[in-house]
Amino acid sequence: MPNKYHRIVIKIGTSSIINADSDVKLSVIESLTRVLSELNKAHEVLLVTSGAVGVGMHTVGIKTRPSEIGELQALSAIGQSELMDIYSDHFKATGQTVAQLLLTRDVVDYPKSRRNVLQTINTLLKNNVIPIINENDAVSVDEFDHRTTFGENDQLAAIVTNFVAADLLVILSDINGLYNANPKKDPTAKLLEWVPKIDAKLMKVAGGHGSQFGTGGMATKLNAAKLILDHHREMAILNGEDPEVIKQLINGANVGTYFSATQPEGRTNE
Ligand code: GLU
Repeated sequence: MPNKYHRIVIKIGTSSIINADSDVKLSVIESLTRVLSELNKAHEVLLVTSGAVGVGMHTVGIKTRPSEIGELQALSAIGQSELMDIYSDHFKATGQTVAQLLLTRDVVDYPKSRRNVLQTINTLLKNNVIPIINENDAVSVDEFDHRTTFGENDQLAAIVTNFVAADLLVILSDINGLYNANPKKDPTAKLLEWVPKIDAKLMKVAGGHGSQFGTGGMATKLNAAKLILDHHREMAILNGEDPEVIKQLINGANVGTYFSATQPEGRTNE
């Protein structure tokens, strides 16, 4: 397939990079960084990664996520630098330079900071550097009169994709894509190959009572897909267990679920 993707945003969630014992899945990071370094030779690649709080928990040795906001923000501050260390080391091994950007919603909402952050990202991409983006969890606020959080990283990734005018957002999850029923409960559940629009029926399938497919949660992914489709862009949900699948998708393979207004070659929405 001729390469229709110039700029690609990849989003990976906490459950794809941290296991139930709160250990970092280094084999996934190793594979992800190798694949992204390879892709960055022919495309412009940005990575949106979660995991600051999860890695922070691992670093200080706690297994239960605290609920108190101060503790969560402190853990994110500890974990974010560790997380970047892990990414930098792995990317260095592939010869790839990376940069860290920690965003809050106000940064992309206000025209002047928006212009500057876009300029920074464009300069990095022009110089073949992969920007690694997370929310600035340690300082973001969610108060009734002052809200600077994005809420969660599927939303952040969709906002970034639109903001940098990327051609494609790839969300790596702990499941193969979006199904027409809960595959953990219904053995006949079918993986949807192509979704042209997000309607109420689909949202119900994804977000009904306790029917989130996998720990990542499909409802937030569909909200992200809606934001992407509203801006006439494209998105895929893939299983992040083996990041090699990203290359298959870019080469036109029928993997995961693809969200686009026009029908992709080799996929149906039946
Ligand atoms: N920014 C959070 C973190 O790095 C993750 C938010 C999310 O999981 O969507 O821990």
